[in-house]
Amino acid sequence: MNEKSRKMNEVISQNRVKLHLFEPSQRSIWTIVGKEKEHWLDPESNFCSCSGYYFGMLKNKKPCYHIESIHIARQEKKFDIIKFSDEEYDSFISSILDEL
Ligand SMILES: [Zn+2]
Repeated sequence: MNEKSRKMNEVISQNRVKLHLFEPSQRSIWTIVGKEKEHWLDPESNFCSCSGYYFGMLKNKKPCYHIESIHIARQEKKFDIIKFSDEEYDSFISSILDEL
């Protein structure tokens, strides 16, 4: 198993993929809990907020392993759902943006 699949395995098996679900609007935000911080992902546009994604895309147009991990997690339904109310949406977004 190579380094990338090992990391992806770790993410999935340790349930580090989180779906933050806002109600009643059903808006959703995906994150993966990393070693130091939480990464924000958009699986629809294949975007990840980590530095690995940024440099990978810059250098060889390859995204980070988080992107693949999140697709596998969704397929296998291996993620935690954390529910929030819509009133919390704005402060949630700004706390994510603060960490970037
Ligand atoms: Zn990433």
